[in-house]
Amino acid sequence: MKKIIFGILALALVQGCTSNVKKNVEEVKKYPPFEVQNMDNSIKPGNDFFTYVNGTWLKNNPIPADKNARSTLEELFERNRHDIREIIEEAAASKDAQPGSITEKIGLFYNSGIDSLSLEKQGITPLKTLFEKIESIQSVADVQTVGAFLQTSGVNPFFAIFSNQDAKNSASVIAGCYQAGIGLPERDYYFNNDAPTKKIREEYLKHLTKMFELLKDEPAVAEKNAQTIMKLETQLAKASFTNVENQDPQKTYNKVTVDELKKLAPNLDWKSYFTQIGFPGISEINIYQPSFMRELSNMMNSVPVNDWKTFLRWQLINSTAAYLSQDFVKQNFDFYYTALSGQEKIEPRWKLVLDVTSYSLGEAIGQLYVSKHFPPIAKQKMTDLVMNLKKSLKQRIENLTWMGPETKLEAIAKLDKMGVKVGYPDKWRDYSGLMVSSQPYVLNVLNSLRFEFIYNMNKIGKPLDPNEWGMTPQTVNAYYNPNRNEIVFPAGILQPPFFNLDADDAINYGSIGMVIGHEMTHGFDNQGRQFDKDGNLRDWWTKEDSKAFEEHTNRLVDQYNKIEVLDSTFVNGKLTLGENIADFGGATVAYNAYKLSLQGKEEPKPIDGFTNYQRFFLSYAQIWRTNMRDKELRKRVKTDEHSPAKVRINGVVYNMPEFYAAFPDVKPGDKLFRPVEQRPVIW
Ligand SMILES: [Zn+2]
Repeated sequence: MKKIIFGILALALVQGCTSNVKKNVEEVKKYPPFEVQNMDNSIKPGNDFFTYVNGTWLKNNPIPADKNARSTLEELFERNRHDIREIIEEAAASKDAQPGSITEKIGLFYNSGIDSLSLEKQGITPLKTLFEKIESIQSVADVQTVGAFLQTSGVNPFFAIFSNQDAKNSASVIAGCYQAGIGLPERDYYFNNDAPTKKIREEYLKHLTKMFELLKDEPAVAEKNAQTIMKLETQLAKASFTNVENQDPQKTYNKVTVDELKKLAPNLDWKSYFTQIGFPGISEINIYQPSFMRELSNMMNSVPVNDWKTFLRWQLINSTAAYLSQDFVKQNFDFYYTALSGQEKIEPRWKLVLDVTSYSLGEAIGQLYVSKHFPPIAKQKMTDLVMNLKKSLKQRIENLTWMGPETKLEAIAKLDKMGVKVGYPDKWRDYSGLMVSSQPYVLNVLNSLRFEFIYNMNKIGKPLDPNEWGMTPQTVNAYYNPNRNEIVFPAGILQPPFFNLDADDAINYGSIGMVIGHEMTHGFDNQGRQFDKDGNLRDWWTKEDSKAFEEHTNRLVDQYNKIEVLDSTFVNGKLTLGENIADFGGATVAYNAYKLSLQGKEEPKPIDGFTNYQRFFLSYAQIWRTNMRDKELRKRVKTDEHSPAKVRINGVVYNMPEFYAAFPDVKPGDKLFRPVEQRPVIW
């Protein structure tokens, strides 16, 4: 299910949610902290630290046909999926669930998705009414009315509308409007002329044609419709912000009144649109990409109504294909997973349905999940670790030589005020308004999306709920939210090898310590630093300090721009800057926190021949071990704000003096070696 989280800076890009290995706390404790047999000693740590630590694991763990990558994260997802499966299947098998209860809802939702016999019989019929609505369109006004209706079911034909904190007044929740409408992962796919991208455009045209054929268009009509979609999407893509522009909090802050919106995009009937989506009272809205809205408005006048009908048909089927009969599921998979990511085989149905169920009833399943899989001691230990990391970052800020005292005061105030959430929310969400029944799967999914839409939009104009989470407890990820100035660690990531209750401290500081440091650093990366301690977009930097920050971070941009990931495919240093700062800062702050934790204690003895400081780095490299298909890698370089896994290790360690101290054999002449003057110092 497509989920849109704006403004959240997460640890990793993850697909779907996560989770049949019966696991209990005992087994978690037995997870080995670090396995030396996964290393490749034929590689020098100074030449390629990532492969030195993970080389044998990489050789012995090929990517399964139904995955686009194999990694620590993926393995954790799978383990989690199995935990979640137990919870869901128990609910699904329950014979005495109370009508309207959570147990009944989980069971009905999941069963509707895995009942492949019914899905095949139903085919496209569950969507008949929606397609008829599109068919009945006569005018541009109708295009907008039907588009608005689809929007309330989670289909965002033109743009997404949601609630968000006002970036310059974080206590207030306002409406936001974000560009959408394109079927390829990113605007550059429509314009880049390198061979792999051109091939993807060809495949996309074929995919569009096949989808229209599945909707029973004659082949010639289907082909013509595919061309229409490509043309419209290219026009929308051209007016869209690039992903680097979308990271700019100032550029994407364009709060307007409804009257101003009417001037910006006059060919959309906003009053009617807001009424149609059920929120006629919207008075202010942040338009993230004004150029996009202007072009969309122009297109409302210039594009023939029939082309818009074709566009809405495509939008509807593209959003729902994964929840329909096998022909749609397969065609959707062939393009979005095989052509784009290189994945050979689709995952078993239960896994896909499980992810959607786990998302749709996120906190209901999360509540059961944490009671089974998240020991209270983990919450305590994690809270202590976060405090140590905070102390460490504070010390680092105090000792920075490039930052002046004024800015330091503000930075430390921000760090002191940074909120922390660990494991799961204090208050659980109420799902009583979500209608789930034994109806077709796709209708349960659309109901859930409508429920989410209304839940989200109802926050507009109300006081901000401090208890709210942006991820479910079972998610294997973490995030920093700049508007709330808080770091959040769901229970899902607090498992080995990220967080190992049985490991030596060096291992935990190198993994979860680094994750905590990473999220904290997001508050001080190129985007996060533009927000103050209260989550407001406000410049609290002196001019000199801003300049010094940019000088150091520009060196990081240059370094990453030079890293070739695949044949003539380079890391985008600007796109990944925030994450690279967070990785660099996270590792540095975690290392410093580990050193502080050793004060007054006896130095730990080496384990397996590695000193504790070396084990810190081994642990850090272990959590990012990844085999990834080339196609997926190519896609991520274009779309993912995170650098590829290998780069997240090798691109960080060579800037850290602590790495050279831990591995004194790393010397000039080694591929990773960087002389001191080439190493930036950021946090
Ligand atoms: Zn991050």
